[in-house]
Amino acid sequence: MKAPAKSSGSSSPAASIPEVDGGHGPPTDPGRKPGDRQGLDLFALLAEYDHEQVSVYYDPSTDYRGIIAIHSTVLGPALGGTRFWHYESDAEALIDSLRLARGMTYKAAVAGLNLGGGKSVIIGDNRTTRREALFRAHGRHVESLKGRYITAEDVGTSTADMEYIKAETNYVTGLIGKSGDPSPVTAYGVYRGIKACARYRYGSDGLSGKHVALQGCGSVGYHLAKLLYAEGASITCTDIDPQRVKRVVEECGAQAVATNDIYDVRADVFAPCALGAVINDTTLSRLRVEIVAGAANNQLAEDRHGDLLEQRQITYAPDYVINGGGLINVNAELHGWAPERARSKAGEIYDTILRVFEIAREEGIPSYRAADRLAEQRIAAIAKVRRNFV
Ligand code: NAD
Repeated sequence: MKAPAKSSGSSSPAASIPEVDGGHGPPTDPGRKPGDRQGLDLFALLAEYDHEQVSVYYDPSTDYRGIIAIHSTVLGPALGGTRFWHYESDAEALIDSLRLARGMTYKAAVAGLNLGGGKSVIIGDNRTTRREALFRAHGRHVESLKGRYITAEDVGTSTADMEYIKAETNYVTGLIGKSGDPSPVTAYGVYRGIKACARYRYGSDGLSGKHVALQGCGSVGYHLAKLLYAEGASITCTDIDPQRVKRVVEECGAQAVATNDIYDVRADVFAPCALGAVINDTTLSRLRVEIVAGAANNQLAEDRHGDLLEQRQITYAPDYVINGGGLINVNAELHGWAPERARSKAGEIYDTILRVFEIAREEGIPSYRAADRLAEQRIAAIAKVRRNFV
């Protein structure tokens, strides 16, 4: 059972939901498949993904084609970024928005935030230079939902795009000069999560003398390395960008390895901070660690890889729990929190990770499933509290 759904339906100001399934793409886009209509069972999809609402809006003047998926508003307004992507088909775009929106519900729930889960996608070539009109059309779409959905940056969008959206709606975060780069808060949450894993695994959360294999020395990876180094952990790192590796080697005394060798490093912790799907059939048998805990989204290529980690007795910190600091940072912007409050909230990831492991042990399930249980428990509890008219 996934998160409780309220009702299904569309509130699009323009197209009705069935219009999403192909056919309305303009003739200027020859790469798109027009024949999705037959394959898409729309309401079965909404039921499968337990969605409250999907809104579809087409603006011919800008060629804006946007979908906003609202999975749940039980805990609060649905928050999730806008992804701008050249989807192969409208069906693919819809499914992506549903999948991502549901993920946001779970992420907000375990982070203890009063936010629901949503996501929007804009279908098109994100290299376009005609951004203002397009993102203002998106802003009008967001505004039409009157606060049920709040947007932010995601793949293919930037803070400048958020400024265009802001011209049409206040339901947007991640603006220039506001909460800023979320990476330090995310890294702090990951660091606290790694400490919780150490406590669970070794009985102490001290990281001095522990060895971390760090994949990705980008925004989060770099800040994480600094925190680990400050506590006396040793680091082996990799990145496809040699400059980023150099920075971590020089500032944190790390050893560098080639990108493909990171999976073979004998260490206490593997911290994926670059890509998704890095725990897969090829890499899993190579891991020589006791803990997998890092910032990357969707680390498990498939759910069964979470089961396989469990079978190999590798402690896995579910990705959407440990990397919740980014969302906490956005929430801080929405509610005007001081940076210390956001950091403190991200620090609570420590307790949440331990609670996930407790549920896993009590119920005899892998940690990635226990994380879902924790999210569902909170959503169900709050839904009950808010049931009565007051
Ligand atoms: P980033 O782009 O700053 O850093 C990613 C790094 O990974 C880059 O330095 C890149 O060169 C490197 N990389 C790419 N392919 C690689 C490979 N094959 N092997 C090794 N390194 C490779 O991104 P980020 O903001 O640091 O985010 C890292 C991960 O954490 C992403 O998966 C992101 O979705 C996730 N995440 C980030 C935040 C945040 O606040 N930034 C929040 C939640 C989740």
